[in-house]
Amino acid sequence: MNNLASHKITKDIVSKYGFRFTKSLGQNFLVDEHVLSQIVDSAEIDSEDTVIEIGPGIGTLTRELSYRAKQVISIEIDKNLIPILSETLADRDNIKIINQDILKTDLHELVNEFSPDRKVKVVANLPYYITTPIIMRFLEEKVPLKTMVIMIQKEVANRINAVPSTKDYGSLSVAVQYYCDTDIVAKAPKGAFIPEPGVDSAVIKLEVKEDKGIELIDEDLFFEVVKAAFSKRRKTLLNALSTFGNIGGKQEAKMALEIANIDAQLRGETLDMKQFASLANAYAKVLN
Ligand code: SAM
Repeated sequence: MNNLASHKITKDIVSKYGFRFTKSLGQNFLVDEHVLSQIVDSAEIDSEDTVIEIGPGIGTLTRELSYRAKQVISIEIDKNLIPILSETLADRDNIKIINQDILKTDLHELVNEFSPDRKVKVVANLPYYITTPIIMRFLEEKVPLKTMVIMIQKEVANRINAVPSTKDYGSLSVAVQYYCDTDIVAKAPKGAFIPEPGVDSAVIKLEVKEDKGIELIDEDLFFEVVKAAFSKRRKTLLNALSTFGNIGGKQEAKMALEIANIDAQLRGETLDMKQFASLANAYAKVLN
């Protein structure tokens, strides 16, 4: 079977197997060939790469990835898709389908088993109900990863990619940009999927940084400070930091801001990555 990214082929396969879409599993299958090429091209896969795909669906993206990669490891939660994948990918011998929940998968074990000597690339049209948990698990658990090229809701892509002092900039932007360089590489309208999702989508490329360019005394504290800074968007940094999380009160906030040389009257959303790092490191000294 060749290219699966068409309305007709996808509908034919789905009806042949009497497959019913489960909305709660985020099942919106890609039927747009152009968007499919954009995803695969921006992943820059070579013949030595192991690709991890989350949610192969009927195998549309899986198949294209398998032409470029050494191997594709696809994790699919829905057992009803397994017989379909056996047919649509029957002629490909470098694909392994694992019937499992990605959130319950031991990611280090997975990489160790299939690519012990080389970092993997993640490429996926993600189930939207768990976009952020999936991204953050790969990053926070420091899975040996080169890039993630993922289709997600447009709004979430904009938040991940946002720069300081914009409405989309928030703790998610800082958390992901701490680990990765980010770039929105494609847009996908609702009509690119069957069934059509309620939101527009975008493909974002996350390139894991070799060098983060900042030194942190305590990484957990950094994330705590970032969350606190964004906890009250309309209040000053001093106010937000004084009243949220496990980082002390007003006194500690004043001292940390002074050490970091940051104006207490600013809003949290104006701070860039380096300023957040200075503030977190100042807190590490104050709270010690
Ligand atoms: N890759 C296919 C495509 O582009 O047409 C399907 C993408 S669809 C947006 C998301 C897929 O993720 C579905 O096949 C769904 O069953 C699967 N999925 C949902 N939750 C999952 C989970 N927790 N673990 C693994 N797969 C999951």
